[in-house]
This record gives sequence, C-alpha cells and structure tokens, in this order.
Amino acid sequence: MIVMKFGGSSVADASRIKHVADIVKTQFEKKPVLVLSAMGDTTDHLLEAGDLALKNGKIDVDKVEKLHLATVKNLKLTGKQQTIQKEISDLLDELTRLLSGISLIRELSPRTKDYLVSFGERLSVRIAAAYLKSIGMNARAFDAWELGFLSNSNYTQAELIKESWDLIPEKVLPLVKGNVLPVVTGFLAKDDKGCITTLGRGGSDLSATMIAAACRAAEVQVWKDVDGILTADPRIVKSARPVQNVTYDEAAELAYFGAQVLHPRAMQPCMKTGTPVLVKNSYNITAAGTRIEQTLTAPKKNEPLPVVRAITSKHKVTLVDIVSTRMLGQYGFLAEVFSIFARHNISVDMVATSEVSVSLTLDTAFDLGEVKKELGKIASVEVKTGKAIVSIIGNVKRSSEILARAFRICQLIGVTVQMVSQGASKVNISFIVNDSEAGEVVKALHMDFFEAAAKKAEV
Ligand code: ASP
Ligand code: MG
Repeated sequence: MIVMKFGGSSVADASRIKHVADIVKTQFEKKPVLVLSAMGDTTDHLLEAGDLALKNGKIDVDKVEKLHLATVKNLKLTGKQQTIQKEISDLLDELTRLLSGISLIRELSPRTKDYLVSFGERLSVRIAAAYLKSIGMNARAFDAWELGFLSNSNYTQAELIKESWDLIPEKVLPLVKGNVLPVVTGFLAKDDKGCITTLGRGGSDLSATMIAAACRAAEVQVWKDVDGILTADPRIVKSARPVQNVTYDEAAELAYFGAQVLHPRAMQPCMKTGTPVLVKNSYNITAAGTRIEQTLTAPKKNEPLPVVRAITSKHKVTLVDIVSTRMLGQYGFLAEVFSIFARHNISVDMVATSEVSVSLTLDTAFDLGEVKKELGKIASVEVKTGKAIVSIIGNVKRSSEILARAFRICQLIGVTVQMVSQGASKVNISFIVNDSEAGEVVKALHMDFFEAAAKKAEV
C-alpha cells in the first residue's frame, strides 16, 4: 500500500477534488490510503469564526458553509440517493451550535479550539469520499480517531501516543486488504478522555507519514502546490529548482529553517521505519518531485552528489548578545541564561558561546521586556532586531569547503556575517546577517553553489 496526502490547496474546490481523483486513479493498483487537509483556507476561516463568536458574540459560518455546499453541488453529489448533503448539513449545524456555545460563555479554550477546527477535515474527507464513490471507487471517509489516532491532551499541539503505532495498522490494513479506499482526516486525533485534538498547524503531513510508517507502506506521497523541495525560496531566487532527493535530517532542517514544504515533525515516523517520502506537485503531476529517504543516491550514475542541497533564510530574527558580568570561569552561567528563556516560554534557534558570552537568536515575535530585566541581573544584554538566519543545508562532511565559499561570497558582496553556527544535526551551517541583506546573500550563494557549476558544465 501507499499513502497519498493532499493539502488544503489541492482540495480547495470541486475542480481540485476532481483532479485529486484523477491522480489517485493513476496509482490505484498501489492500493492508496488518502489523507486530506481541510479545503482551502477553511482552518483559518474556522478560527476567525471562533474569534468572532468569542469577541463579538456573532455567529457566522458563511464562508465555510458556502464553500462546502457549493463543492457538493459542483461535484453533482445532490442526487436523491446521496446522503452526503445531510452529512454536511449535520456537521454545519453542529458547528453553528458550537459557535453559539462560544458566544454565550465567551470562552474559547485550546480544547474547544481543536473541536472547532476539526470541522474542516471532517467536512473535506466526507465530500471527497462521496465524490470518489460517485465515480466508482470503493472510497470511505474516516475520522482519524476511528483508525487508531490517539494523542495526549496537549490541545492544539497534541502528540500521538505510542499505542497509535499498533492501533493504526490494526484498523487500516484490513480495510486496504478488503479493497476499501480509506479517505482519512489529517491533523486530527482524540485523547484518552475522548476529546478531539489537533497535531499543530500543518499537521496533516504528520498524519500521513504516521499511517505510512505504522503500516510499513511502500511510500508516502505528499501532494503540494510546488514542485517539491526547492534549492531556494523561488520568491528570492528565480532560478531555484527542485531538489531530487534529500535525507530525512536535511528535510527536517529545511522545514524548520523557512522552506515551508513539510511540517518539521512530519519526518519523524518515517525516519524510524525508513519509509520514503515523496513530495509532489498536484498542479504539475509530471514533475519528478523530491524524494526524502535515509541515504542519498546520486542523481545519475557516476555523478557526485552536490555539496549543497538547498539554501534557506528565516527572516525577522532577533539577535541577543549576553555578556556575563561575573568572573571568568564561573559555572552555571549558561544554565541560568537558558532557564530564564525557558521560564518565559521563549524558544531559542541558534546559539554561539564563548567563555564569558553567549549570542543567541529568537523569533522577533517574542516580547523580551521581562527577560531583559532578569538577564540584566547576571549579564549585560544587547538586543539587535532586523536580522535573518541564512542556512546552507548540505554535506557537512565538507563543511570547510562550504564555509570557505560562503564567507568568500559574503566578503565579495560586502556583507558582514554576525554569528555562525553549525547545526548539531550535522546537515546545516547557519549564519546571521542583516535582514535587509539576506536576499542578496541567498541569491549570491545560490549562484555559486548551483548555477556556476551548471554553467561550467555547459562550457
Ligand atoms: N488544516 C490544517 C491547517 O491548515 C492542517 C493541515 O492543513 O495540515 O493547519
Ligand atoms: Mg491547511
């Protein structure tokens, strides 16, 4: 069997769902299990509706209702023998009741938020399954918890518990053997109290990789709206191109440092089992996509693997320089610094230290007022905003070469590198530059590592 996951934009309307059906048809003999996101921006619309009910006491399901009813109609699922209309209107009624509840008590807890956003995926799988059935496939919609998705109660960021590893194949494999085409909600699970949980925004990728890994599927295909993982952000580098293959570690780093292609946690289940992940473009089926697996194979026989896989940048980063005001050699300084950040729930990205100082980076989104005060008791603190992290993902066995080339490029374009660190995962070299210069740095690095070599080969 294989798992095929389609994200929100791949199931955004009736014509996209038809297109999904066409793609599924081409792989039917591989026995697919489908995992779907909510249609289009439905998750955001549900959160907006929740906010409106909470703050203004208004109940407005207009956007969600219109999209789903129009899709049912456009897929011609309105015949008398169809039960889908009733299923959809029942779910929309339940959603309206939930919003009335929120507007009455003016309270929207993380648990209720998860219940609220769950409607997106619950609606999308029902509509898609009904359509696939109407064109002759033996499709059946499932809420993930019916197929063994059990999580802890960390609402909005829940983690699957280890029992899921046994429960999922127990439920899914008999369906596949029985020639059923399961259409499963991504993103969702239930906790031991029976409450709906979600796996974090973008969590459907994880649902798909989890089914694939637990069922030892041949592969998991993640269908997106881009040609796979690209060598750089195409908005910055016009000539960015898809990377043929990357390792799980590289893909995880890429996901974390700005290439919003796969959910950072999505790689974890497949890393355990070695299940290959294929990132494909549902808008461009013939493109090869990117293959993510344990070890890399050379793109062509006898051709060396490229030194660098991709270059990413993360913007709006804050750099904090902390210099200890205590005596040299005193222990516990780093521990104290990090415990202050931990107490304020601020996650740190990059770190570089010396005997008496530590520099680290944070998302600008964090409010540093209190932290600065506390740090001020043990150190002098300087906060610099407007920075960016540029990361080079590649073969760090050749880090000297990568660093030499990268620094040379920065020197050539007159950009000062303000901090450097080599990731412990051994696949990423990151450095800090001014945010205003990051685009230029990425372009120049891309030119050197990808385009210059290609040009030389042509000559
Ligand atoms: N629908 C959810 C979201 O938009 C989950 C997903 O799409 O993966 O975050
Ligand atoms: Mg989505």
